[in-house]
Amino acid sequence: MKEVVIAGGGLAGLGLAHALRNRGVPVSLHEAARYPRHRVCGEFISGVSAATLAELGIEDAFADAARHRSGTWHRMGRQMLAFELPEPALAVSRHRLDLRLKEEFERIGGRVFEGSRLPREARPGLVWSAGRRLERGPWIGLKAHFQGLDLSDGLEMHLGRNGYAGLTPVENGRVNVCALFRLDRQRSGRGPALLFDYLAAGGNAELAERLSHAAADSASFLGVSGFELGWRTPQDDLCAIGDAAGMIPPLTGNGMSMAFEAAETAIEPLLAWSCGESGWDESVARLREVMRRRFSRRVACAMALQGLLLQPFGAALASGLSRTGLLPFRPLLALVR
Ligand SMILES: Cc1cc2nc3c(=O)[nH]c(=O)nc-3n(C[C@H](O)[C@H](O)[C@H](O)COP(=O)(O)OP(=O)(O)OC[C@H]3O[C@@H](n4cnc5c(N)ncnc54)[C@H](O)[C@@H]3O)c2cc1C
Repeated sequence: MKEVVIAGGGLAGLGLAHALRNRGVPVSLHEAARYPRHRVCGEFISGVSAATLAELGIEDAFADAARHRSGTWHRMGRQMLAFELPEPALAVSRHRLDLRLKEEFERIGGRVFEGSRLPREARPGLVWSAGRRLERGPWIGLKAHFQGLDLSDGLEMHLGRNGYAGLTPVENGRVNVCALFRLDRQRSGRGPALLFDYLAAGGNAELAERLSHAAADSASFLGVSGFELGWRTPQDDLCAIGDAAGMIPPLTGNGMSMAFEAAETAIEPLLAWSCGESGWDESVARLREVMRRRFSRRVACAMALQGLLLQPFGAALASGLSRTGLLPFRPLLALVR
């Protein structure tokens, strides 16, 4: 069997690495950073099926993950909606999850190169799962873990004028606070203070105040900017999966699920290439087509929903519908899954 080389050891890369290794394919994985490391991520995994995790062979990594079924949405301090998910979401820090998947991949015979940043290139056998593409984009993502924060539900989403923040308990009494805002050069602050400044500027000063009384783990604070959301029609011959192929707005809590599902979609075409049953170009074309069918509508719906909720009119409409019990939460959720 021919070797598959994976560039990017996030969830798409690690998920695919496991699945191929479990099928006897030689796999080496290159990760630019070193494990364990924090990621800008809400760490709320919603929408992935047990069957997908089993297909990748990684279901055991979630055995002790927190399971959250209920949550609330708020806008500038006022609750808009309380919801129940049809299936519980999984919550575990990326610090723990990615390390665990990497160690298990090595145990089953995979090779991992940490601190190894591969060049972006389209070549047979190379899968590009290197995450968000750096480009001019209007967003900034900020995240930190806090201790000593009381949450009544598994997820609190707080909408503001400039974006939104999600709060979710992960492990060891930690609460992940992760936010997406429109980039604003006027905002300032070091570490979590930058998050508080963005929150206050968007009308969520009360939340910023509440967070400032909890203990932030400053080592877990991270920020990223310069990326675009949305589905991409590939412009080159790269074999891209996960965020490298397209990003769903984080408010859906579905990006990590999509990374796992993309890895699942890639198993069959890459296995066929590795065994010599299919050419590289043919495998990549098949993978792209299945990913387009599986993800493009979901991402477009999520983009429309995010656009609406970030408008005062859209947020007021959602609040009003929710108050009168007319908000079609489950059908909307189904559109972004
Ligand atoms: C603010 C924000 C909040 C989010 N919240 C959630 C949430 O609550 N739930 C959810 O499901 N999703 C969420 N997401 C999305 C989720 O984080 C991503 O969809 C998911 O991490 C994608 O996985 P990936 O493997 O494609 O990329 P990543 O997890 O980004 O992994 C890519 C890896 O590639 C490495 N790399 C980069 N360049 C190279 C290179 N040249 N060579 C080798 N390695 C390289 C990076 O170091 C990184 O480890 C959020 C995203 C943002 C921005």
